[in-house]
Amino acid sequence: MNDRVTEASARACANIALAKYWGKADAKRNVPAVPSISLTLDQLVTETRVRFDPALPSDVVRLDGRRATAAEAERVVTMLDRVRRESQLRLSAHVTSHNHFPTAAGLASSASGFAALAAATCAAAGLRFNARRLSALARASSASAARSIYGGFVELPAGSRGDVDLAARQIAPPEHWNLRLVVALTELGEKKVGSTEGMERSRKTSPYYQAWLDQAPKWSRKIKRAIKERDLDTLGSAMEQSTLAFHCCAITSDPPILYWAPATLAALATVRGLRERGVPAWATMDAGPHVKVLCEVGAATRVRQALDRTPGVTRTWVAKPGPDVEVHR
Ligand code: ADP
Repeated sequence: MNDRVTEASARACANIALAKYWGKADAKRNVPAVPSISLTLDQLVTETRVRFDPALPSDVVRLDGRRATAAEAERVVTMLDRVRRESQLRLSAHVTSHNHFPTAAGLASSASGFAALAAATCAAAGLRFNARRLSALARASSASAARSIYGGFVELPAGSRGDVDLAARQIAPPEHWNLRLVVALTELGEKKVGSTEGMERSRKTSPYYQAWLDQAPKWSRKIKRAIKERDLDTLGSAMEQSTLAFHCCAITSDPPILYWAPATLAALATVRGLRERGVPAWATMDAGPHVKVLCEVGAATRVRQALDRTPGVTRTWVAKPGPDVEVHR
């Protein structure tokens, strides 16, 4: 198989962490220090095609219709190298990936990006990995990508130094609970501090980092139970606490990492206002300024309209629980 073209495509959805991930137990192997729980989102999709080609002198990486930057290409080539080692394939690859939503903006493009890349690369290389092995492979590039291998509600346990096999697992399939996540875009452009760099800075400098590590598992357990019992109020309030605690850790790093824009606070006020008027809606923010609001399907239109009216919100989407990663040959 080493002298012929082999190719495959994969489609993966990004996910939103309900129990937040911030901090690594092993930076080299990309092992998280806290457990996280997420919801895979049908609206935030990456499609990636990988072609191993004997005619190529070196790997070529294209992202969103342009040549990838050196830093972007390096992360992709690291994944290609892992798969080449496993499959004993020596060919260079042509990788074309498209995020159908803003890249590196705090909408988890790295999650869907590396989940799609892991699945497409393994399929193109002829490796028949099950979901668990694919998840561990994706996790080595981006911890949140480990969760995007699965649809619905997904957990990634905390690991420890030297862990190589840590993978995510599904808690419940998409049809378990017909929730909606309304995504409010508050600012355009890429985020100023990438998640990997931000977490390391928090670990080294935030006086609240240890408190975050101590408390995060408690919210994660609460959120897992709430998902099983379909209890939105418990899930929502634990998600908000987990969110604010992780941002507190980022904000108190040195130099501080403040991901919020004025519209972030305006959107949070909108969500509080909705709750005061009896609409159960709960907010979360990742390492970026955007606000994502969890609600029941019947409240989604009202939540979206309220966010659309919020000063500084430029665009909204309504996402529902999304599927597992899909491979096409
Ligand atoms: P985000 O919030 O979008 O995940 P990060 O800074 O955590 O932002 O990750 C963005 C990085 O992930 C990009 O700079 C790029 O290196 C990588 N990435 C994003 N999308 C893809 C993709 N489709 N294929 C490969 N790598 C990707």
